[in-house]
Amino acid sequence: MAEFERNPQQKTLMGPGPSTVDPRILRAMSEPTIGHLDPDFLQIMNESMELLRYIFNTENQLTMAMSGTGSSGMETTFVNILEPGDKVIVCVKGVFGQRMVDVAERCGAEVIEVNAPWGEPIDPEDVRKAFKETTGVKMLAVVHAETSTGVLQPLKELSQIAKEHDALLLADTVTSLGGVPVDLDDNGVDLAYSGTQKCLSCPPGLAPVSFNEKAVEVLEKRKTKVQSWYLDLTMIRNYWGKERFYHHTAPINMVYALHEALRIIKEEGREARFERHRKNSAALKAGLKAMGMQMLVKEEFQLPPLTTVVIPEGADDVTVRKRLMQEYNLEIGGGLGDLKGKVWRVGLMGYACTKSNVMFFLSALGNILTSMGVKVDKAAALDAAAEKLAE
Ligand SMILES: *Cc1c(COP(=O)(O)O)cnc(C)c1O
Repeated sequence: MAEFERNPQQKTLMGPGPSTVDPRILRAMSEPTIGHLDPDFLQIMNESMELLRYIFNTENQLTMAMSGTGSSGMETTFVNILEPGDKVIVCVKGVFGQRMVDVAERCGAEVIEVNAPWGEPIDPEDVRKAFKETTGVKMLAVVHAETSTGVLQPLKELSQIAKEHDALLLADTVTSLGGVPVDLDDNGVDLAYSGTQKCLSCPPGLAPVSFNEKAVEVLEKRKTKVQSWYLDLTMIRNYWGKERFYHHTAPINMVYALHEALRIIKEEGREARFERHRKNSAALKAGLKAMGMQMLVKEEFQLPPLTTVVIPEGADDVTVRKRLMQEYNLEIGGGLGDLKGKVWRVGLMGYACTKSNVMFFLSALGNILTSMGVKVDKAAALDAAAEKLAE
């Protein structure tokens, strides 16, 4: 074998991300790298901003992509809004809410946590209570689609509460953008961030963000400089905006990837895309239930792009996932934190959200469980899924 050879195999990525990348996007990434102030590139940036507004469903002028993965989007929203001593309420119901707390604390903010058990959404009443017990809260932060648990958090009531207390609402839409409606304007979300490797089906590397006028006003009224030079929107927006001031070199080919991903979404249409995620995940869940398994999350809060299923008795978590990979080149996720060893996380995101992946996964899982002596009705699972898909 040649030295330093690299030969990654094509796999089916049905975990919590990254998800399988659309080959159209990989082709776009191999196009020639041009200058970051080249007029052709500026047009690609402008179109990307316009297309991001389409999928975020917002009029927000300040809608663009940060250089870095989803976590850089998280960090961008916190460091640009919070100054030392500011109060922020952070909703914690899984790993990414916990990460928000860590990021907010590093901004020197006073963090008030509102918790919910993993697998459940945040109760708006608990948020109301937290606001009552303190004053001068600058921002309420919540994860829209908690990828560690598979919970889709309703946003409208939280935005109402934030408004009543003159606080901004921040939503993490890393796993929701492109898979379920995020409707920033209609939901009353003031600022949001996302990532490219979940339902947008790009490689990891960019973090779309969107700030409305209220959030921009807070940014402009800061008394102190933004703590991070690299993520400082007061400068970066002058590169993505009309001024085109150099800040840092945009990851050119990654922007091609995002642009292509968003073009694909526009071609399919956002409503059709959401319906595809809803339908395929309904088929997946019908199949798993027919095998005798249970979902972690109550139906009304289930997240179509990511299903958390309780591991059946007699099945060893790690062995099953290892065999899915070795025998089928198929990746799913295990549980994190409190849910380690208790659930599997099955993603149906963007390009990977297909009927054939639903049937492929159910049959592969059925085969493995059967061979391990776990009693599951494989045929019933495939029938139940096929029936849902035919609806
Ligand atoms: C994946 C994810 C992140 C972090 O994104 P990275 O690209 O891993 O930095 C943040 N929030 C949620 C909800 C996620 O699913």
